[in-house]
Amino acid sequence: MPIDATLPYDDQNIFAKILRGEIPNNTVYEDEWALAFRDINPQAPVHVLVIPRGAYVSWDDFSANGSDSEIAGFVRAVGKVARDLDLVESGYRLLANIGIDSHQEVPHLHVHLFGGKPLGPMLAR
Ligand code: 5GP
Repeated sequence: MPIDATLPYDDQNIFAKILRGEIPNNTVYEDEWALAFRDINPQAPVHVLVIPRGAYVSWDDFSANGSDSEIAGFVRAVGKVARDLDLVESGYRLLANIGIDSHQEVPHLHVHLFGGKPLGPMLAR
């Protein structure tokens, strides 16, 4: 079910539980600002989710309310994950779903990082 990204943060969401270590994940990178882990239902040979440690519902919430340090730390973490996974030369795709029309399902900001094969057109027609 897509979520309404304008609702307040729900600390029982699945990624909040992953951040607290209550649910296992396949971590590929973590630092002070971000956690990156493999998507449970991968849509490409490489499909990693990068999430900020802070409690933000969506990109909208984060870009409006995140501190400069959180935003810089998160953006740098996304880039580092792609470099660490050796995706820069072949290329990769970033995607963030925000709210109902985009079909965001988990109400904690996450950036999808896809790679490992030619990814085709940006959106299905
Ligand atoms: P959204 O549609 O919100 O942008 O994407 C949510 C993503 O989270 C989906 O790609 C889904 O497969 C992934 N996901 C949902 N629950 C879990 C989980 O418990 N662990 C992991 N690793 N990924 C999850």
